[in-house]
Amino acid sequence: PFDVLVIGGGPAGASSAIYAARKGIKTGMVVETFGGQVLETLGIENVIGTPYVEGPQLMRQVEEHVNQYGVDIMKGQRAKSIRKNEWIEVELENGAQLKSKTAILATGARWRAINVPGEKEFKNKGIAYCPHCDGPLFKGKDVAVVGGGNSGIEAAIDLAGLSKHVYVLEFLPELKADQVLQDKLYQLDNVTVITNAATKEITGSSHVEAITYTDRVTNEEHTLDVEGVFILIGLMPNTEWLQGSVALTERGEIPVDKHGATNVEGVFAAGDCTDSAYKQIIISMGSGATAALGAFDYTIRNEFP
Ligand code: FAD
Repeated sequence: PFDVLVIGGGPAGASSAIYAARKGIKTGMVVETFGGQVLETLGIENVIGTPYVEGPQLMRQVEEHVNQYGVDIMKGQRAKSIRKNEWIEVELENGAQLKSKTAILATGARWRAINVPGEKEFKNKGIAYCPHCDGPLFKGKDVAVVGGGNSGIEAAIDLAGLSKHVYVLEFLPELKADQVLQDKLYQLDNVTVITNAATKEITGSSHVEAITYTDRVTNEEHTLDVEGVFILIGLMPNTEWLQGSVALTERGEIPVDKHGATNVEGVFAAGDCTDSAYKQIIISMGSGATAALGAFDYTIRNEFP
């Protein structure tokens, strides 16, 4: 059996594996794809101490770092279920059963896509999902935010401070964000809110140049000239496989305490799959370290068969 079995190979999983392995304990990793969401990121400018790095390059370095510690990495494998008996038992989709004293869940999250023409083509070419990451790229430019929930309106307020004009497109007849955010938004003079807007297409040549939407009341089509489109219609944690075994919030996130512990003894969690307030690389790496130290502490305080 492992001492620590990490599920997930993004920043949170990699950081937990390194912290665990540095304790000299037997550490394994089950990863569908090593690298996680960072592989989809072109330029990263907020990994402190590294002013600029591209996602694939960062995760190559992270993988090399993990490999320095003799972590048993099982790539191309998805965890299917987890339960606690004498050991923590993790079943993989290929049927294999793994046992460990502790487990760290770090399966991350995925942004919901709007699935319109142009969304895939212009990813990293004007289409963005994270205002903290990519906001500064749109300084002085016109941008659209798709989504009028809390994350969309927070993004719009944030972007209004940098961009020239921000258009908020909400599908429903009204915004869904908290009232305080809406009040704040409506005070800004470089923001236009458009409700009942069904995004139809994102167009451009090498980069985004416009977004087209259908007004759901009049059925008319409108096009806005923008250089950026932020899509903020929900971050979905990759936790479906945990339903019924580990407590989840109503949004599907794993609640953790300050040691990264979940409600199941010996099972810890880190990164975007948890209820952490913000979802960033540095935050995921930090919570991965916390979860690994929490798991190590657990192994020295408990007896195992
Ligand atoms: P993830 O990166 O999502 O990794 C999850 C891992 O778990 C993956 O390896 C996946 O394959 C694996 N996995 C999932 N399910 C299973 C399973 N059942 N079994 C086994 N493995 C599984 N943050 C920044 O700080 N700066 C940025 O500039 C930035 N830009 C971003 C740009 C984009 C387009 C996106 C999408 C995100 C960006 N982020 C950025 C956010 C950042 O990427 C995430 O906060 C971070 O990757 C979360 O790390 P994580 O390890 O928790 O999860």
